[in-house]
Amino acid sequence: MEFDLVIIGAGPGGYVAAIRASQLGMKVAIVEREALGGVCLNWGCIPTKALLKSGDLYQTLGHLEDYGLSVTGRSYDFTKVIERSRGVSKQLSAGVAFLMKKHKITVIEGAAKLEKSTPAPKIVVALKAGGSRTVQAKHVILATGARARVIEAAGLVPDGERIWSYREAMVPKSAPKRLLVIGSGAIGIEFASFYRSLGSEVTVIEALDRILPVEDEEVSVAAKKAFERRGLAFRVGAKVVKLAKSAKGVEVDLEVGGKAERLEADIAIVAVGITGNVENLGLEALGVKVDRGHVVTNAHSATSVAGLYAIGDVAGPPWLAHKASHEGVHCVEHLAGQKPANLTAPIPGCTYANPQVASVGQTEAQALAAGHEVRVGRFPFRTNGKAIAAGETEGFVKTVFDAKTGALLGAHLIGAEVTEMIQGFAIAMTLEATEAELMATVFPHPTMSEAMHESVLDAYGRALHL
Ligand code: NAD
Repeated sequence: MEFDLVIIGAGPGGYVAAIRASQLGMKVAIVEREALGGVCLNWGCIPTKALLKSGDLYQTLGHLEDYGLSVTGRSYDFTKVIERSRGVSKQLSAGVAFLMKKHKITVIEGAAKLEKSTPAPKIVVALKAGGSRTVQAKHVILATGARARVIEAAGLVPDGERIWSYREAMVPKSAPKRLLVIGSGAIGIEFASFYRSLGSEVTVIEALDRILPVEDEEVSVAAKKAFERRGLAFRVGAKVVKLAKSAKGVEVDLEVGGKAERLEADIAIVAVGITGNVENLGLEALGVKVDRGHVVTNAHSATSVAGLYAIGDVAGPPWLAHKASHEGVHCVEHLAGQKPANLTAPIPGCTYANPQVASVGQTEAQALAAGHEVRVGRFPFRTNGKAIAAGETEGFVKTVFDAKTGALLGAHLIGAEVTEMIQGFAIAMTLEATEAELMATVFPHPTMSEAMHESVLDAYGRALHL
């Protein structure tokens, strides 16, 4: 057999799985129809972080007097902001190409389709360069990712011109003067934050009754207030009846609390979730079980077809790059006959807006619904020395513990750089830490992470600086 493993899709699920398989001695090929690194490196996580950095710096320049500094003639060159973001993606995609070479992984450029075969389906690739190539392996992993969900009935369909998905929103020629963002998940909020920081008038429309609805409710409330202070407008509990192009831009008909409302803008970004890339892969003919746009898998990422596995976004939520990589490593180690630990580690989630939001584990409401008696701690950054010195006093750390066992059930943070802090709680939860170990941990002073310690102490009535 030509290969031990063929992986379809070179995003953070597929390319990481390929590297791990190579480390374990497998002969590996990876098929990619677009660019190495997938959506994450080319159209998602990474280029948006570059955009947000430009936006944050521009905003900071707007209140330098807070720090005793001044600057005249603040301005930006939008083309260069976008170019920098594209350059960052390009650099990282080239980095993945280097890693593939280093690990002797065969990269096949083209679109793959599966056909019935044993011990695993064979892969027919329509090559980018023309023609086709058929490869056969002992195992096949689908890591084809996901794309923006469209809702045709409500006109939530990107047209590439005035109605954008995350792709168009990443590379426009200019920043819209008036922008509507539909959906207040991570994608919607990150773009809303970026464009607001460059001066766009932004209104975010959310169907549910609060923004960032997967987060703890206190975080949603604080985030909305913080974003409103920055000039973002929101319509929550707003049903989109119809989004359409108008003579000058776009208009959206909403139903808010039983009342009809119409909003107009130059551009709309649709960010109402994503759906797995399960089409044109030959899955139906093979009899692969697919449920609501995602391939159904077991605890080791095996599909219903022998020799075929699925990881990352195409295998369902949470749709996060680090979940895809983690599943990829687990799947490959299992294929290699190792006994990797079950996929039970808590998966942190981050939104890189201004302020940032990060969380891991259960919200307070989820913990209560799961039958836990809880102890909850909170600590605001406004009483943290480093935060005051840095002028970053917005936000707080909230921790949720099981009152009986002291197990940390969840942590919910909002504020500057909390996406870098959440990992402390992710490690604690993975190691099944209780309040006692967290209290016994020494946090460096002065750091914003001291608020993590204080939040734990507060859950037990022992906060030192409240
Ligand atoms: P999402 O599902 O997180 O959020 C979509 C939001 O749109 C929800 O709040 C939903 O209630 C709302 N919505 C749905 N239909 C609507 C309608 N008709 N009108 C108004 N609002 C509506 O989806 P997303 O933000 O598009 O992101 C997709 C996935 O990618 C998410 O799972 C997210 O976690 C992941 N992602 C993560 C990051 C990150 O970690 N920083 C960044 C981007 C995306």
